[in-house]
Amino acid sequence: MTKAFFITGTDTGVGKTMTTYVLGLLAQQKGINVGVMKPVQCAGEDAQFLKKSLHLDDDVRSINPYFAKEPLSPHLALARAKIKFNIEKIQKEFRALSQKHDLLLVEGAGGFLVPIKDKYLMADLARDLDLEIIVVARLGLGTINHTLLTIKQIRHYGLKVKGVVFSESKKSVKGLPEKMNPEIIKKLGDVPVLGIVPFLKNFDRRHVYQKCRRTININAILKESKESRTQQLVDWDKEYVWHPFTQMKDWLGERPLVIDEAKGSYLTDSDGNRYLDGVSSLWVNVHGHRHPKINEAIERQLNKLDHSTLLGLANTPSIELAKRLVEIVPKGLAKVFYSDSGSTSVEVAIKIAYQYWQNIGKTQKRTLVHLANSYHGDTLGSVSVGGIGLFHRVYRDLVFKTMQLDFPDCYRAPVGKTYPDYAFECLDKFEATLREKHDEIAALIVEPIVQGAAGMIMWPDGVLKRMEELCKKYNVIFIVDEVATGFGRTGKMFACEHEDVHPDILCLAKGITGGYLPLAATLTTDKIYQGFLFDYKDQKTFFHGHTYTGNPICSAAALASLKVFKEEKTLQKLQPKIKFLEKKLKSFYNLKYVGDVRQRGFMIGIELVKNREAKEPFPWEERIGVKVCQKAREHGVILRPLGNVIVLMPPLSMSIKELKELLDATYLSIKHISE
Ligand SMILES: *Cc1c(COP(=O)(O)O)cnc(C)c1O
Repeated sequence: MTKAFFITGTDTGVGKTMTTYVLGLLAQQKGINVGVMKPVQCAGEDAQFLKKSLHLDDDVRSINPYFAKEPLSPHLALARAKIKFNIEKIQKEFRALSQKHDLLLVEGAGGFLVPIKDKYLMADLARDLDLEIIVVARLGLGTINHTLLTIKQIRHYGLKVKGVVFSESKKSVKGLPEKMNPEIIKKLGDVPVLGIVPFLKNFDRRHVYQKCRRTININAILKESKESRTQQLVDWDKEYVWHPFTQMKDWLGERPLVIDEAKGSYLTDSDGNRYLDGVSSLWVNVHGHRHPKINEAIERQLNKLDHSTLLGLANTPSIELAKRLVEIVPKGLAKVFYSDSGSTSVEVAIKIAYQYWQNIGKTQKRTLVHLANSYHGDTLGSVSVGGIGLFHRVYRDLVFKTMQLDFPDCYRAPVGKTYPDYAFECLDKFEATLREKHDEIAALIVEPIVQGAAGMIMWPDGVLKRMEELCKKYNVIFIVDEVATGFGRTGKMFACEHEDVHPDILCLAKGITGGYLPLAATLTTDKIYQGFLFDYKDQKTFFHGHTYTGNPICSAAALASLKVFKEEKTLQKLQPKIKFLEKKLKSFYNLKYVGDVRQRGFMIGIELVKNREAKEPFPWEERIGVKVCQKAREHGVILRPLGNVIVLMPPLSMSIKELKELLDATYLSIKHISE
């Protein structure tokens, strides 16, 4: 694999080209096939010089795709020469040169923040080429400030500084600054110093090699091949990390991917391979990874307030977010209680619902009702209202008693019953129970319209509305867990909107921060909130709160994500993509093991069966879903199954082109196991 570095300077004329030459020469002396690139050059002959002195046979137009003859900043020089800049041209040459050489040195023009065209800086070029940066700095007096600023800015861009090379521009006195600066920059900038390029009388290869071979640590630049780094990370992962929902015995025998970077719809592993994020990093990512607006909001918040507690204090972003949430959720919800995860948002909902009846004196209303196949999280309260045996069975002595409502898997109604009628039949049965026992029932909790973790079970129209009616009629608190469905996933901001449903309590998490940070919110109506307003001595306070409740950075991310929804018209743009998926997904029935394809918005489940007519499931030990997802990786897509159901839940920002890539890869992966 080619190593490539971007060489930038703390200023123009600090010796970037000379440094590029020296590094190239030293690497050549170690037998490495070196190439160079000077993507943009304004006046001068840097590219020709490098080509000639490093004995390169690459075309000068390949080394230097953009040349303007005036010695000005690139944006000016190119504009005045009427040259239109296009990053793709550079990327094309970059790819070609990378294939030819083992080490590619890409020399910038001017400093890191120099504009190439309107709003496109040298920094953007380095980022688009995805390169680590070598900073060339003056050696003498005045270098500390410039160098530290450059380093800071590079990191601000999310790029890595490989190290600093100091360049002695003219035969300078070896004064105190020359002696001390590298050390102080190393310390203050927390960067490796890669060496010093001394003043060179002439550029003869032998002379340069003799002068520089001891002053530059070329090995520090060449070492750490990406592969050995991956191996090290994998070893440490296996030694130190216990992964969630994972049989670690299997894990230890596998070669895990280490995700190192992400951008938009793609994840990149530690070897530099890119994958489409087909499940939004477990159902959380909304606008793509590292969205500039959300990044910016987090950074801004970081520079203002990191954390302060909501126990006894308020903080700005959590106030603003609460107001914003109340504005966008179904009407009637008025108060926001923060926590950190979907599970805790449910935990909070359950405790509020339970305590509400205790507080207002209806102490018999203590039973919580949930659906078969429900999933509300992994803490013990949320496990209590869970209906997925595999996740919950072992903890049965630890959880509290609930009432579980029979509710069909939409694909498999019991023998003699048909779906969707059976779903309503179940609700009629629930009504019969309510008629008799509503005085004992505190709340019903459901995942609206799509039961995610159960395998993307999707309800027929009207079921959610019917539940709401029953709860209202029998005075039962209706808790809607939109942890998975919230924030656009079903095609509307909240699943409740599909049927104009107004819950008493709403649970939000996963997508709330756009998929950046852990944050959750439990919203309640004013009526429920009023059920907690008593005199202090009555001890009817809601005694609950997590340490990081209302964290400002998480809140800032959430606010930014909501802003992006508006600015980018995310939900509007989603609709044609949903249609596209609908159309394309039909073809999956061509595959013999596909039993059912279910979709609601951007939530998709493809259920694999051994026999389509009999709907016969694959035995779970066969891990058919896992096999398909492993295959998908070979096609450049990350998926995570739920048993025999292949889940697709792309970020809402995923383009039609990427969605097609996702579907094609999924199709091929299922096809592969059908052969
Ligand atoms: C994921 C999920 C949860 C749990 O959220 P965590 O953040 O993993 O605790 C709860 N409810 C639903 C519907 C979920 O999909």
